Amino acid sequence: MENKCFMCENTSHDKVLVAIEKEGEAKFVCVGCLPTVIHGAK
Ligand SMILES: [Zn+2]
Repeated sequence: MENKCFMCENTSHDKVLVAIEKEGEAKFVCVGCLPTVIHGAK
């Protein structure tokens, strides 16, 4: 099973994924969505 961005479902083949923790859960987010996450969008 492949890790996916929790926002847009890109895999690490599409974009670089970054491991994060959100609401107590380990997740991955792609670099395309990371600015949105940093700026506090849900
Ligand atoms: Zn994404």
